Amino acid sequence: MRLDVISLTPEAFAPLQGLGVIGRAFAAGIAELYCHNPRDYALDRYRKVDDEPYGGGAGMVLKPEPIYAAFEAIPITEKRRVLLMSPQGQPLRQDDLKRWASSYDQMVFLCGHYEGFDERIRPLADEEISIGDFVLTGGELPAMVIINGVVRLLKGTVGTAACLEEESHSSLLLEHPHYTRPSTFRGQEVPEVLRSGDHGAIARWRAEQQKERTRERRPDLYARWIEDGEGPVLLKRSQP
Ligand code: SAM
Repeated sequence: MRLDVISLTPEAFAPLQGLGVIGRAFAAGIAELYCHNPRDYALDRYRKVDDEPYGGGAGMVLKPEPIYAAFEAIPITEKRRVLLMSPQGQPLRQDDLKRWASSYDQMVFLCGHYEGFDERIRPLADEEISIGDFVLTGGELPAMVIINGVVRLLKGTVGTAACLEEESHSSLLLEHPHYTRPSTFRGQEVPEVLRSGDHGAIARWRAEQQKERTRERRPDLYARWIEDGEGPVLLKRSQP
């Protein structure tokens, strides 16, 4: 997948290349990242990309011309999706990551700064996405969150498809707890059932844990799961 980022701080994306499995996916050519700085497309000799808001008020607004010029210089592949990072956007969900990873071969990210974008930049985007109900200084971290989540789902990035299917948010229920050796750590025991070798009992215990955890931690998801007719609990394989 081709990933194009329009950002005033393209250097912010360098750490992605060294980020474990995601970094390896870039090294293997599963995804390619291209950064474009609107400053390189500014019209004046001061490379100005922002200006005061019409009507007055605090902060600076990103000018449309350099963003459009940077955007229009990007090669277009057949199936592309343009996302504008904004705290006013639709909240990011795992389903969005799946949809983008499976339906597109190019994604373009518009990262804001200062007070945000001139309103006339918005039509460039297919979707406006927020990573949560809080405000950051720029769209770089939100774009990196999405890039991480999408690249993780691309074929070849993560070892087995089962690893992806069994995570929290792949169904409405959260994942069950995990344990590894030692069986006792500072007085805390690994539940007996996980050491029993009874794969049926282990699967049932995990399914119960999924329901219990979701009810306690995310009553909103649990209520949706009940509303949906208590859809299938993801019964995990009990073998390692
Ligand atoms: N004035 C804007 C508002 O109230 O909606 C906020 C601008 S924010 C300081 C600057 C930029 O950071 C935004 O244009 C956006 O690209 C990015 N940003 C900040 N918080 C974000 C969030 N929760 N999700 C996605 N992008 C965010």
